[in-house]
Amino acid sequence: MRRFACPSCQSEVFFANTACLSCGTQLIYAPGEGFSPSTEGALACANRDVIGCNWAAEGEGGLCLSCLHTSVVPDLSVEGHAEAWAKIEAAKRPLIRALHHLGLPLTDADQRPAPVFEFKADPQDEAAPRVLTGHANGTITLNIAEADDASREATRAAMGEPYRTLAGHFRHEVAHHYEDVLTDGHPDRLTALRQVFGDETQDYAEALQRHYAEGAPAGWEQSFISSYATAHPWEDFAETWAHVLHVLDGLETARAFGLVPADLPRDLPGLAAIPMQRLAEAWIDLSVALNAVNQAMGHETFYPFVLTPTVIAKMEAIRSLIATGQPRILPEVA
Ligand SMILES: [Zn+2]
Ligand SMILES: [Zn+2]
Ligand SMILES: [Zn+2]
Repeated sequence: MRRFACPSCQSEVFFANTACLSCGTQLIYAPGEGFSPSTEGALACANRDVIGCNWAAEGEGGLCLSCLHTSVVPDLSVEGHAEAWAKIEAAKRPLIRALHHLGLPLTDADQRPAPVFEFKADPQDEAAPRVLTGHANGTITLNIAEADDASREATRAAMGEPYRTLAGHFRHEVAHHYEDVLTDGHPDRLTALRQVFGDETQDYAEALQRHYAEGAPAGWEQSFISSYATAHPWEDFAETWAHVLHVLDGLETARAFGLVPADLPRDLPGLAAIPMQRLAEAWIDLSVALNAVNQAMGHETFYPFVLTPTVIAKMEAIRSLIATGQPRILPEVA
């Protein structure tokens, strides 16, 4: 994420702000353009008063580029659902910004928003099937319980995961969509990915069943970013893709605050254009330092992952795939 200044008084404003905390100017954000005062022509997203969306209206129904990608929202008459939805959308907006800046396609062949997101609550009936977070044919489903910190932490502990966040869910699930979209009509890309991640035609249900029964093979840390990545080549791709987006967004943010070398590009498309090896070196330096700072504060580890040479090579395969997008390098007002 970049740093932003209030267009009226130049005080720092943050990505989620609907107003400047110094001068009170109402703010509207547009990806690629940054913030403008809400008085200057740009219409606010129709969801502004509902969930505090601070983006500019773009399309159908007066929704912004991010809200246009939401196809299902939970029943807002149920207590807590509106808050959960707002929190989920606040985590989705940086993702949509990143995908937009990286030039990854955000529409399908019919120019409809893609991928789309369904945010659903578990049914009241305890015996009914639960809402599973996942991806199928361009639709990403997220159980809104993931917005509840206590519930998400309980799941994380039960699954033995080193971390579990809304940003992590989003970055992982969009990977499945983009693996389909970016290899469609490009057999060469599919072959290249198969060489790195293995044969994705192996039975997915069987592979997952085996993973949950037996766990990850010993020594997996050398070649995989996470235990779950060992389950199937699709999950290896998605887990690794999520980390490429973590590193790109993390480095863009760190660069804006002067925490990484100044010869690194300032924006996401610039960062995505340089070799993963260089990005990984900067990220490892930064994350070792931030891990220590977090420890000093008594917090959990900032980045509890190890980027081995094999993992970095996998990330490079994904970085070069992402770099095939049509980057939008319109500077956001900083
Ligand atoms: Zn201001
Ligand atoms: Zn919106
Ligand atoms: Zn997955």
